[in-house]
Amino acid sequence: METKERNIIIPSVNYHLWEPCNMRCKFCFAPFYDAKKLLPKGHLPKEQSLQLVRELAAFGFEKITFAGGEPTLCPWISELITEAKNYGMTTMIVTNGSMINEAFLTQNKESLDWIIISIDSLADETNLQSGRAVTGKKMLTRKEHFKLIDRIRKYKYRLKINTVIHQLNYKESMSEVTAYAKPERWKVFQVLPVKGENDKHIDDFVISDEMFSTFISNHRQFQEENILIRENNSEMKDSYVMVDPAGRFYNNKNGMQEYSQSILNNGVEMTYREMNYNYQNFINRKGVYNWK
Ligand code: SF4
Repeated sequence: METKERNIIIPSVNYHLWEPCNMRCKFCFAPFYDAKKLLPKGHLPKEQSLQLVRELAAFGFEKITFAGGEPTLCPWISELITEAKNYGMTTMIVTNGSMINEAFLTQNKESLDWIIISIDSLADETNLQSGRAVTGKKMLTRKEHFKLIDRIRKYKYRLKINTVIHQLNYKESMSEVTAYAKPERWKVFQVLPVKGENDKHIDDFVISDEMFSTFISNHRQFQEENILIRENNSEMKDSYVMVDPAGRFYNNKNGMQEYSQSILNNGVEMTYREMNYNYQNFINRKGVYNWK
């Protein structure tokens, strides 16, 4: 790793390995239309995906977060997690929770360190209206959310919650479920418009900074306990190292996605530098914490 701050490598990478998802969130910024032009199925073949994980580990990323789409739908997700663990990385998965059953939790216990569940609301109506529901129709009910938390706790995975705040939920309370789940981190994001990805419905979801702050101040006790980490649109900027399903680094620049060349064809070092990620913004959004 180099010493000049602007050249310091961000130590965590989000690998969006798989575009397919069983939910239909209308604000989703990960439909990966560009990747699907290259790979119509929305993912690399298994062997290339495993090779990519090995190369990311060899480059020096310490933590990898598997994301999608919905990564638990990928038939080789456990092999990717195991590969990352064998190569020394801390492993995480971001999931909508619909496929987190006993079989998944048992199978991945040795290799998966953290589970990050996306919960935006406990209100059925909000989840249905926003499309956060399987096929856009079957949302996880309040009871199912609590059962999901119990299941993850039973297997002693480290737990994080992600919540996207938008017009439909910014006045809602998430205090009860958060107090129950006791996540080590609760990331609360302002819904992010990304040109070419979520334009169709985004006007029904975007909120002002003030509306976002309303949600945060209504949950300030979790901020005081250092559990709630807030990220508005500008706080996210350039601070997430993301790999798309076609195996390219990408970044949200000027409101739209920009992509590096193929990592497998050109190497991690060169393609990472193409993106100009910002280490200081990563630090400012509390990207470094006790993840090991
Ligand atoms: S669950 Fe995640 S990947 Fe799937 S549609 Fe919703 S936001 Fe997008």
